Amino acid sequence: MKISELYKTKKPIFSLEIFPPKRKSNIESIYSTVEKLVVCKPDFISVTYGAGGNIADNSTCEIAANIKKKYGIETMAHLTCVNSTRDDVKEMIGRFAEANIENVLALRGDIVPGEDLKKEFAHANELAIEIQRKCNDDLEILGACYPEGHYESKSLAEDIQNLKYKIGAGVKVLITQLFFDNNAFYEFLGRARNAGISVPVSAGIMPIVNARQIEKTVQLSGASLPHEFTRMIGLYEHDPEALYEAGIKYAVGQIRDLMENGVDGIHLYSMNNPDVALRVYDEIRDLI
Ligand code: FAD
Repeated sequence: MKISELYKTKKPIFSLEIFPPKRKSNIESIYSTVEKLVVCKPDFISVTYGAGGNIADNSTCEIAANIKKKYGIETMAHLTCVNSTRDDVKEMIGRFAEANIENVLALRGDIVPGEDLKKEFAHANELAIEIQRKCNDDLEILGACYPEGHYESKSLAEDIQNLKYKIGAGVKVLITQLFFDNNAFYEFLGRARNAGISVPVSAGIMPIVNARQIEKTVQLSGASLPHEFTRMIGLYEHDPEALYEAGIKYAVGQIRDLMENGVDGIHLYSMNNPDVALRVYDEIRDLI
């Protein structure tokens, strides 16, 4: 099923994101994770695509296809283009078609300084155009967006103008980068709607439940940290159990507020941690 159709039938849509195991030999381990995540009754599950766009790595396609087949849950495969040729993209979307994958998150991917890029695609909208050209509407295209602006953009206004290229290229649904300040999301959404972007937007939420995530994810995402969040970290960063509980509570608070304010969807960055996803789901299921 095309994911945009789901948004027409239900509000909010609840989706989960997982990533393929780092070592290919561990690929089977993802299914025991999914087995537990299924209890959250996600409307769809998305599977990330390894940084660097290694075409030889088929795990995103394989995992997305198997989840759909085994659990009957809709899936979305991520695909980056910054390090791919047009032939690579053609091959990958051919594999998606064979695997009965109907939804793709068309991404540029991060540019690693000094990396030798293939330079056939500069931006995600060009990938979306290529997919649309090759597949017509057989493969539905979704895209990423950034409530606080993408780190390369000079301003949020510029980033939203660039976002319109994606919509023009056929992107039907947007999923946001993680954020901790709901006001940033509401501000972004208002400005995107004013700019004429009318597609559904799912809010990306990541529960921060351990100190390692604070350093890695929080800094890398560039998300701003509201006082309530830094207070929580300050209080509990040396107390793993308390931080876990506080992190769940914070994410649940964010999600409930978003739902009460009519968000189109919640996209939970599950980090392949079913315990966290289930805890969050238990606290929000009355609103789904
Ligand atoms: P783009 O849309 O190309 O935007 C990148 C920058 O270029 C922005 O500053 C934008 O304003 C600007 N821009 C866009 N279009 C144009 C244009 N036509 N002309 C001029 N400027 C333009 N990375 C992975 O490697 N694998 C994943 O699986 C993955 N999943 C993700 C899922 C989500 C929901 C999100 C939010 C991000 C994900 N990423 C993933 C990270 C993503 O690849 C990076 O954030 C990347 O730096 C930007 O990707 P993009 O598709 O948004 O790029």
